[in-house]
Parts: sequence; structure tokens; C-alpha cells
Amino acid sequence: MPVGEKLSIIIPSYNEQDNIARTFHTICEILNSNHIPFEIIFVDDGSKDLTYARIQELSSAHTEAKGISFSRNFGKEAAIFAGLEVAQGACCLIMDCDLQHPASLIPEMYRLWKEGFEVIEGVKSSRGKENPLHTFCARTFYRIISKVTAIDMSQASDFKLLDRKAVDALLIMPERAPFFRALSSWVGFKTATIPFEVQDREIGASKWSLWSLTKYAIRNITSFSSAPLQLISLLGWIMFLASIVLGVQSLYRYFTGTALEGFTTVILLQLVIGSVLMISLGFIGHYISRIYDEIKARPRYIISKRCGC
Ligand code: UDP
Ligand code: MG
Repeated sequence: MPVGEKLSIIIPSYNEQDNIARTFHTICEILNSNHIPFEIIFVDDGSKDLTYARIQELSSAHTEAKGISFSRNFGKEAAIFAGLEVAQGACCLIMDCDLQHPASLIPEMYRLWKEGFEVIEGVKSSRGKENPLHTFCARTFYRIISKVTAIDMSQASDFKLLDRKAVDALLIMPERAPFFRALSSWVGFKTATIPFEVQDREIGASKWSLWSLTKYAIRNITSFSSAPLQLISLLGWIMFLASIVLGVQSLYRYFTGTALEGFTTVILLQLVIGSVLMISLGFIGHYISRIYDEIKARPRYIISKRCGC
């Protein structure tokens, strides 16, 4: 089959033992009936179950099935980049292992690619079943990230088809903590969008907790923007203005002999200033830790096993 037409499907998989074969056969059926040449690369992100064994079984029975396995859990972003690195196709599609991204849309995305589009983005027309707190946090996060990246990310997902040019542009980025769904828009190229409904996860459970989502949000906002640092300066100026007003008032009261005892005020001021300082230090500390991570230049992931590639 001509590599020039080949579609590489990259599937990050973490503890998905019961989804691997099902996902593979679902995709195969759709692509074979549409005569699309393809390979499917499962990236086992350090799973603790039989995910990699299932991938190996598939790989020994089907030439289209390939797999790599990380030495430990490095996260979904790392898995996506590892998949992009080993993919041989002329275009690459990223999708989840739980089929929450509808495989039935792949032929349409592939057709758009053949028409000349270089980035085909799946955008969520609904978020599927989710608890309201999760939806609220996700909305807030995407509102912030859309503002700082100047790219509308409100409905963004990782379900994307990228032309080789876009893949190569992503792969030369040296960032240690890449944010795939924003970077793949940031690289530009001729883009088409395709709406999809997030399907329900039928097998297994979501890997995201509120804590891991919070970390993910903070990491990605700080990797795209230094606005929180500017916010600290703004806060400083606001407090400076407040201090002038309060200072003038206090001096006036002191010289007119109406100064209050002042203990409560002093304690409150100390607490407010202390908190603002500590939070600001936390912001700065976070950026320093990001620089520290980048400067060490450790690999994004370590591959321990591979099959079929
Ligand atoms: N995933 C991964 N590494 C992780 C967490 C998740 O590769 O550390 C994969 C997971 O196997 C799935 C995809 O990323 O294929 C999306 O994960 P999940 O379904 O848990 O997220 P949700 O759909 O709830 O956002
Ligand atoms: Mg899912």
C-alpha cells in the first residue's frame, strides 16, 4: 500500500485491557470498508493491567496493529507524541481508546485530508455525560486558555487528523510538557473542523480525577502564558494605591489626634499582605519549576517495549 496515502491512527492507552481489541476491530471494519490504508499504533502509557499483552496479541495477528509501551505512566500528552514519532503514515489521527471519539467519522476526516485540509479538528458538539462541577471547571479552563492562546478552544478535543507537515512541525518542538490540543491549532495550516458528539465510555473508567485535572489546567495555562506573572504586578500596583489612600488617612488621623488603637487593623493588614505575598511567590515558584523541568531536558517518555514497529 502506498505510504503516501497511509493513515496512522494513534491511540494512547492507559489501563484499557478490555478496550484494545474492541477498538481495533471497530476501526478496522470502518477503514477496510472505506478502502483506507492504515496502521494503528497503540501507546501503552505504563498500564498496570494487561493492556500491553492485548496489544501484542493483536500485533502478532494483524500487520496493521503496532504498539509501544512506556516504562511507566508518562501521561496522555507524552503518549500522543510518542505515537506521532513512530507513525509512518502521510497523515495521523489521534483518538481515545474508549471509543468516546466516534470512529465512524474517520472516513469523513480522511476525505477532508484528501481534499487538501492539513489539520482536521474534531470539535465537541456536546460533552457527553459529565458531572456539572466537571463541566463548569472545564468551561472555565477553556475560557482562560482560549484567551491566552487566542485560539478558540472551548470545544477542543484531542480527536484530530494531522497532515505529515503538521506532525513534523509538532515533533520539532522541544517542549518537555507539550499541550497537544492547543499546539496542534497553534501550528496553523489549512484547518477544517468536524463536530462530534462525545460518546459514553462503555468499558473501564475515566482516568481523570479533579486533582489531576487541576494540575493539567495549571500546567497548560502556564505553558502558554505568562499572564499570571503580570497579574502579580497588577496586584502590587492595586495594593500600592490602597496603601497611599490608607497611609494618608492614617497620618491625618495621627496628626489630628484621632488615631485608633489599631491592633485589629494591623493584624488584618498583615494577614492580607502575607497571603498575597505567599500566593504570588507560589505563582513565581510554579514558573521556576517549569523552567527547571525544561532546562533538565529529560526525555518526554521512555519506551520499554515495542511490537510491530
Ligand atoms: N490516557 C493515557 N494516559 C493517562 C490517562 C489517560 O494514555 O495517564 C488515555 C486513556 O487510555 C484514553 C485517553 O487517554 O485512551 C482518554 O482518557 P480518559 O478516557 O480516561 O479521559 P476522559 O475521556 O474521561 O477525558
Ligand atoms: Mg474517555
